[in-house]
Amino acid sequence: MGRLMVLGLAVTVAVAACAVASVAVGRRVRSRRKWRRVLGVLAELEERCATPVGKLKQVVDAMAVEMHAGLASEGGSKLKMLLTFVDRLPNGSEKGTYYALDVGGTNFRVLRVQLGGQRSSILEPHVEQQAIPPHLMTSTSENLFDLIASAIKEFVDRGEDGSKTLVSGRGKLGFTFPFPVKQRSVSSGILIKWTKGFHIEDMVSQVNDTVGTLALGHYHDEDTVAAVIFGTGTNACYWERTDAIIKCQGLLTTSGGMVINMEWGNFWSSHLPRTSYDTDLDSHSSSPNDQGFEKMISGMYLGEVVRRVLLRMSQESDIFGTVPSRLSLPFIFRTPMISAMHEDDSPGLIEVARILKDVLEIPDVPLKVRKLIVKLCNVVTRRAARLAAAGIGGILKKIGRDGSGSITGGRTRTDVKMRRTVVAVEGSLYTSYTMFREYLHEALWEILGEDIAPHVILKVIEDGPGIGAALLAATYSKDSVCG
Ligand code: ADP
Ligand code: MG
Repeated sequence: MGRLMVLGLAVTVAVAACAVASVAVGRRVRSRRKWRRVLGVLAELEERCATPVGKLKQVVDAMAVEMHAGLASEGGSKLKMLLTFVDRLPNGSEKGTYYALDVGGTNFRVLRVQLGGQRSSILEPHVEQQAIPPHLMTSTSENLFDLIASAIKEFVDRGEDGSKTLVSGRGKLGFTFPFPVKQRSVSSGILIKWTKGFHIEDMVSQVNDTVGTLALGHYHDEDTVAAVIFGTGTNACYWERTDAIIKCQGLLTTSGGMVINMEWGNFWSSHLPRTSYDTDLDSHSSSPNDQGFEKMISGMYLGEVVRRVLLRMSQESDIFGTVPSRLSLPFIFRTPMISAMHEDDSPGLIEVARILKDVLEIPDVPLKVRKLIVKLCNVVTRRAARLAAAGIGGILKKIGRDGSGSITGGRTRTDVKMRRTVVAVEGSLYTSYTMFREYLHEALWEILGEDIAPHVILKVIEDGPGIGAALLAATYSKDSVCG
């Protein structure tokens, strides 16, 4: 009897152990299956985001064709190709004291530069930055410009020599801003009611921030033909020959060319490698169907693309246990976090763990999940950087600096001796995110090939928008406005 009981107990224990073991095995199998699904999400993303050089060259061609169409007629392309009426660029001979106002999305900066009349003799620029109070961003522009005008007045009044050069007519002001504006001349086009501080005549140029960057790039190096910005947003401008600017015939001076503000963030082509994450991001944005290129490339959006993929991964699996509620918050991952995770070279990916803890409030994310997230950041940023390179390739192609001749000129590679070509680059996405920068350089090299690539130089132009605007004020104060 006693023995029977012991036997019964042993059988029960064995059955229970089997049950526990089979539950554990089942859990492991399910978990492995879920992990495979997560890897599937990553593999699918990698495939959809692929940018082999053949595809990049299609994007290059599409960019050049769209540039052509945008120039040929208003509304001819999603690229606005705005005339800036900047038909001269600073060349180093500028002299005197100039002011600039650089209005951005969150800050505005007032600058004073002294130009010594020799290239690269910009004396220590004096810069003051102020945040734009959020309530003024949504109120009338009059209130905002009142604030800015007061700030300029104070800045000028506090000038080193105490002289009010601006209002007395000896100082000139350049103005730069990151918005698309259809201009009528180099100093008009945006409706601003300057109420205090200085007279409108003091403002001799108002340009897009890319144009300021091109101006400063050209001041330092006359081979500078284009400027691109990779910051919160992205945009580009370049120097175009007069005869290629069909839509402004009759308006132009005889200088032979003009800077065109491409507004390239709005570029679109069916060759762009788009995913369902991009489409969803776009449809939930405040500008659906617009700024398609920018939404794949710029600092404003890279973190958001990563968040959308991570959300999908966590819904497909248990990488974070249950789906973290914070992962549903749009724009919770900002791009500097993406670069910090991507470039975390600690063996245990400590920075990745820290950011996930801060952002998602999940401690102790397993190492294999952290590794997966680094790969995800890599896919999203690599695509962005390679498409950015294709954009630059498109400009070079349009102006015949890609070694193949201009698309309007119809020359062939053998006719053209490649000239040294400098592209000015500005923006923290490029300057602060090493992997973005390196992928961009690598892709541009692939696109141009080893014969042409060494002739193309990307040069970081710090403070381009602001100082460049002051330089343009100098260039245009000589004989006032044109157009
Ligand atoms: P803005 O676009 O306002 O003129 P910046 O050129 O400084 O200013 O760009 C700011 C943007 O650059 C940020 O919104 C962010 O997306 C990106 N950024 C800034 N720092 C980094 C970083 N370390 N890594 C990646 N992206 C960054
Ligand atoms: Mg900027």
